[in-house]
Parts: sequence; C-alpha cells; structure tokens
Amino acid sequence: MNNLLNTELDYQDLVSKFGSPLLVLDKATVRHQYQALKAALPGVTLHYALKPLPHDAVIDALEEEGACFDLASNGEVDLMKAHGIDPAKCIHTHPIKKISDIAYALNYGCKVFVADNECELEKLAQFRDQVKLLVRVSFPNPETKVDLSKKFGALPEEVLPLLNKAASLGLEIYGLSFHVGSQVKSAKRHVEAITACSQIIREAREQNIQIKVLDIGGGFPVDYETASETNIKEFCKPIVEALAGVSEDVRIIAEPGRFIAAPAMIGICSVTGKSTRFGKPWYYLDDGVYCSYSGQIFDHVVYPKFAQKLGAINYSVLAGPTCDSIDIIAEDIPLPELDIGDLIVGKMMGAYTIATATDFNFIPRAQIVEIDLEREPLCINLEMVA
Ligand SMILES: *Cc1c(COP(=O)(O)O)cnc(C)c1O
Repeated sequence: MNNLLNTELDYQDLVSKFGSPLLVLDKATVRHQYQALKAALPGVTLHYALKPLPHDAVIDALEEEGACFDLASNGEVDLMKAHGIDPAKCIHTHPIKKISDIAYALNYGCKVFVADNECELEKLAQFRDQVKLLVRVSFPNPETKVDLSKKFGALPEEVLPLLNKAASLGLEIYGLSFHVGSQVKSAKRHVEAITACSQIIREAREQNIQIKVLDIGGGFPVDYETASETNIKEFCKPIVEALAGVSEDVRIIAEPGRFIAAPAMIGICSVTGKSTRFGKPWYYLDDGVYCSYSGQIFDHVVYPKFAQKLGAINYSVLAGPTCDSIDIIAEDIPLPELDIGDLIVGKMMGAYTIATATDFNFIPRAQIVEIDLEREPLCINLEMVA
C-alpha cells in the first residue's frame, strides 16, 4: 500500500506545478495511520484530535474510515459542522471553557465534556440536562517535552471528591480521561495511568458512581529520526495488556492526533538566497520556523530534512524567510552545495506544523496540496490550490 512513509514523490514536478513553499498532504497516509492504530488497539474507539492538523482532507479521509473526532474550540465545532459530522461522534476535551463555548458545542449536538476542577463543574452544571462528564486525571510525565498533565488534570486523589461533587450538582458522570503527554517514548505512562484509573473506577463503584468510559488520550509517537513507520502494534502491546485489567463494561476510547497526522504531510521549500558566513554555507529558504517549521519551536520537534542533490558535503545552515534571527531551521546540517531554486524536503510534517504557523513579516504560508497515493493516477486536488 502506497503512502508517504514508503513512497518518494517527484518534488520538482510538484513545485513546477504548484509553486513553493508547498505542503503535500496525502489522504492515503491518513487512512493508513488510522487503520494501523485501530489494529493495534482492538476494541478502542479512536477520536482523531483535530488540533495537530485540522484540515478538510484529513477529516474526509477519516470520515471514510468511520472515525470519531475530538474537538476543543468553537472553530473546531464549525469544522465538524461544515463536514456534516454526526455530533454523537464528537467529544469536547478542553478542560477549561467559557460558558458560551459549552453552549456552542451543545447547540451543535456534542454532549461529552471534560473538566478537572470544581469551577468548571459549576459551569457545566448550568447545562446538567444535556452534558455527559469526563473527569480528566493528571499523570505528570517529565519524560515528554509536551507534558500536558502540567497544565490539566486533577490529581488521582482529587478525582473521587470531584466525581461526588459532580453527582451532587446533578451532572451525568460519563467517565475518566487522561493525556500522558505527546510523542511519548514508551507506553509506560499509559500503563500506569490505566492501572490508576482502573483503581479509581473500582473505588467510584463502591460509592455508587458508575464509570462508563475510559479515555486514554493521545501521545502515540511517530519516528522523527528516520521518518519510517513506527511499530505501533509493539508500542501498544503493554496498553492492550493493561486495558484487559479494566472492568469489561467500561468502554475505551482514545484521542490520537500526532500519530495520524504527522506522517501524512511533507514540506517542500526552495533556496532563495545563499551566502558564506563565518566560514559556513548559509542557504535562505522560502519556509521557516514562523510557518511550516513552527513545530521546531512550539512542538520541540526536528523534522528529517534533505536536499535532492549529490556532491561534496559541507555542514551548512538553513534559514527561513523572515528577518528574524530565530528563523533558522537547521545549523550544521550536512548538505551538498545548493543553488537558487534547489529544493529542501522535510518529512513527517503533518502534525503541529502549519497548524501553528503565523503570518509574521506578512510572508504567506505554504500552500497545501492534497494527494491520494492509493487512488491512481496520483490524484491531486486542484481546487485546493486554485
Ligand atoms: C493535543 C491533544 C491530543 C492529541 O495528542 P497527540 O499526542 O497529538 O496524540 C489529544 N487529546 C487532547 C485533550 C489534547 O490536548
């Protein structure tokens, strides 16, 4: 099966057709990643977290697979509405919301909400007849650079009092959720969190509070070093084993974002200028950290990058198009001598890249071209780039 993890594209041809900088988004890779994770987590309902790449093509590809969705803002609600997604397939997982945000999601029909503190429970209680509550539990993870439990989640010992408070406010208790941090190295924290939640579920039952759903969040990693396929089955094995210990009548859901989106997009940009500074070759590109490479700042990821050229290697600098000095995407990258118009290709650029891009310096963002590597001939969505 063709996807961006095993297929090289004609980058030059794409740039001659669509210009530079470009992001090429492959729907076949989206479907492939979804299927791989689904197979690795049997019986788990996958809600794609829109945050890393809230793009129409991704939603279309996932809709075809029967996926569910995880949203966190009114804009993401609008996106779901525009695609006609059944709101019963959506969960709203932002732990902190304005009252108007809750009303907005409910008006669409999304009823599952997350909270991790009393103040939020009181907001949700205004809509007690409609809301189903997930209480988010915090499991700090210093191993990941994106430790979401630093910002959100109640400590495990705070959960039962919160569940009781929710019950006394007349809220429908639906379940527990956690997020052990993004791009985790191993499933260790998932396993610990599942075990701890399983214990909380038992204790809650003793107090007559029924937990129906356990949401194991995201965090499923991709391989940024080699841009090759993660053995997700192997990664998820300990998670599957831990889930076997959760009471059978608890439904398991997950919120993968990065794993589905990251491999599905590559970046292509061009050399627009060159110089030698302090003895080193510098190449100035038409894309950088304020745009497609913003994840190198916000998401702490370095994307695998290469030039399609042979020649004697020099340790070089790749700089972005803005006038800011932080706008450098690689220092000491081994490259042959490049010329104006030569291309730099970045892989694994689907998650937290264009989603966090800015318009700094009024430099336009890379254009996204939609392809489908499984539907021959290489099907390019021309409307997207018109
Ligand atoms: C960001 C986020 C996700 C997606 O996490 P990944 O690590 O990209 O899989 C899922 N759920 C919530 C609540 C998030 O904030």
